[in-house]
Amino acid sequence: MNEPTLNVLPLGHLDCQYFRIVAGCDESRMYRSPVSALLIRHPRLGNILYDTGNSPYSRWEYGEDINSVYPVGSFVSIEQALRLHGLKCSDIDMIILSHLHFDHVGGLRYFQGTKAIRNVIVAESELQSACFSVFTGEEHSAYIKSLFDVEGVVYRPIRETTELAPDLTLFIQKAHTPGVTGLIVKTRTLGNVIVTSDAVYTKETWETSTPPGGPINKGTEDFLANLQRLRDMQKQYDAVMLFGHDSEQIQEWSLKGDI
Ligand SMILES: [Zn+2]
Repeated sequence: MNEPTLNVLPLGHLDCQYFRIVAGCDESRMYRSPVSALLIRHPRLGNILYDTGNSPYSRWEYGEDINSVYPVGSFVSIEQALRLHGLKCSDIDMIILSHLHFDHVGGLRYFQGTKAIRNVIVAESELQSACFSVFTGEEHSAYIKSLFDVEGVVYRPIRETTELAPDLTLFIQKAHTPGVTGLIVKTRTLGNVIVTSDAVYTKETWETSTPPGGPINKGTEDFLANLQRLRDMQKQYDAVMLFGHDSEQIQEWSLKGDI
């Protein structure tokens, strides 16, 4: 088999009001927003991890604002999730962070002292945005310094679409944050998969073109422009879409095993 193998790793969930996922809906409606990572075992690049989930110390580390608006409802560490696939953190060769919000970068510290911590890909605009946010004390921010300022971390910033291999390409989206890295991966069972991360939260978002709500999501015009770009990419690559926080899809795909 020469294609990469893709696995969806479920890492628990956040509890939040549904209008933060799909703007405009009833504020009393709650949502179990799944947290996940992707494991890509690539024939040439080795074991690649896309995102790392939450911190095990969310209650102490995330602050009052996040703990009241997006409390961690259940937690599976990236270490436990990798173990289910027969891997240790030290077996990972490269980490790609879709962006630096707490539910994506919170597990980075599990990789301290491993080769992966010196090989962390993130969009340059995202790294700048996260640093600016934490050093200026931005309010209602989903960036937490201790999660991405991990000892020994070496970020490898990308500025534009980056082909890691002919079957694995990263692209940068200016939606949700200034630099959400998505990816296009050619899989054995589903063909091309486009991973949106939080630029598109759910299938409902995709089908209804409804932006998310709440203060951590800014810029409806950017959201809509990115959505159009993704629709064009889907046609171009004849791809299946994988969204950032779709509970049904994350559950279904995590049960597929090797994709
Ligand atoms: Zn997220």
